[in-house]
Amino acid sequence: MNRPLVLAGAGHAHLVTLRRWIDIGFRPPPGTLLINPTPAAWYSGMMPGLLAGRFDAADCAIELAPLCHACGIELQLGQLSMLDADQRILQLTDGSQSSFALLSLNTGSIPPLPDSVDDSVRVLPAKPFPALHEAWKTWHQHVETAPTSIAVLGGGPAAFELALAVRASLPSTEVTLICASSLLATHPSALRDRACRLLEQRGIQLIEQQSVSRVADGQLFNGAQPLLRCEAVIAATGASAPAWLRDSGLEVDGGGFARISPSLLSTSHSGIFASGDCASLAGALRSGVYAVRQGSFLADNIINLLQRQPMRDYQPQPQALALLASADGGALMSYGRWSASGRVLGWWKDRLDIGFMKRHRLG
Ligand SMILES: Cc1cc2nc3c(=O)[nH]c(=O)nc-3n(C[C@H](O)[C@H](O)[C@H](O)COP(=O)(O)OP(=O)(O)OC[C@H]3O[C@@H](n4cnc5c(N)ncnc54)[C@H](O)[C@@H]3O)c2cc1C
Repeated sequence: MNRPLVLAGAGHAHLVTLRRWIDIGFRPPPGTLLINPTPAAWYSGMMPGLLAGRFDAADCAIELAPLCHACGIELQLGQLSMLDADQRILQLTDGSQSSFALLSLNTGSIPPLPDSVDDSVRVLPAKPFPALHEAWKTWHQHVETAPTSIAVLGGGPAAFELALAVRASLPSTEVTLICASSLLATHPSALRDRACRLLEQRGIQLIEQQSVSRVADGQLFNGAQPLLRCEAVIAATGASAPAWLRDSGLEVDGGGFARISPSLLSTSHSGIFASGDCASLAGALRSGVYAVRQGSFLADNIINLLQRQPMRDYQPQPQALALLASADGGALMSYGRWSASGRVLGWWKDRLDIGFMKRHRLG
């Protein structure tokens, strides 16, 4: 079927786009489609709180059908597995194909896994969330099935928050956080010191400067060097691009992410937008904060393209506020070279997250 506009992935940027279109009363062309694997979009900022037992699943997900209905958009549950940017055709994992005039990609990213993994250890990427959430739910509800030891891989805020969350909800499980470089390496050293103290207080072992490349016989290895025995791994190792994006014909960067201009359009193909984690633009970091900011530019630029109006240019913010949940209602904060921690910051983070959910949830 030929579609005037396809929105692929219900990421943060597309949620903001749909909300903005509803607010200004814009209706995209009839036949516009949103494709997403699940009927609800998970909000990553609240996932650690969900695993810490501070939120219910329903608090952390936004149903897509009401948003689509309000915009007059069709919702298709599915997952893109092939994109031919030259022919303007996409294919889903169920084999169905659509052609499109305009396409907007907001499909997020996947944490990279160790190069070699046998089945002796359960390895769960932090995304997609539903699989991690299902595993955690079983462990939490049937404690006898919970792993006795879990390693969380990654050195950024997501890995730090997940390690604290797992520790809080599975108190009998040993938790180790393994970072390929230093913990929170891009944040101020004062934040890093606070984070290290908190890990120690909570009994979480921290291993830095070790990259887990192999999982075999119940052990994690850095090359040939054994690092740790454990029963499960949660990988919050940053962002990698899916193979279909690398092979799409779109211009991509060295990591396989779609190169875009400040208008959020592909640098190689007119009429194809990309935003959030799946896109590559100098200065734009792969975090929800940047994806959300891009959303309002995307909403306007899709309209501008349809109405042949000049495009708005998105300038990545030079720095962003980071609020890291400490799994007990508190949070750590960094902004530029400033850092702080405490319960007020946790309250503030909750207000921001719950505010986002309220604004984007309809019905
Ligand atoms: C545990 C955790 C906590 C985090 N906390 C924060 C935080 O507090 N603040 C912050 O700024 N960032 C946070 N991040 C980073 C943040 O999740 C990402 O940077 C952000 O989600 C990127 O948004 P996005 O718009 O690119 O797409 P996403 O929000 O990742 O959404 C992508 C959507 O596309 C769908 N999709 C994926 N593949 C396909 C496909 N092939 N076809 C169709 N649909 C597809 C997915 O199911 C999903 O609905 C966190 C990350 C993790 C792992």
